[in-house]
Amino acid sequence: MKRKLREHITCSMCGGDAVLKHGDYQRNGILHHDFPYYECTQCGEKHYDLDLLIELNEREKNVEATA
Ligand SMILES: [Zn+2]
Repeated sequence: MKRKLREHITCSMCGGDAVLKHGDYQRNGILHHDFPYYECTQCGEKHYDLDLLIELNEREKNVEATA
C-alpha cells in the first residue's frame, strides 16, 4: 500500500483527534499485517480508511479466486 494517508483525522464518535497507526487487522479469516488505521486519543475508537477497505475487498476476492 503506497497511497499517502493523512496523519490524523477527526473521530466520528467523540470529535477528538484520531492518529494514524499500523497494526494487524484480521477480516474474513485473512490477517493483514501492518494495516493502517486511526485510533482516537480520547475514546480509543478505531477508524479504518474506506478506500483501504475497498482495496481489501478486491484483494480478498483475488485470494478466493486463486485458492
Ligand atoms: Zn473518539
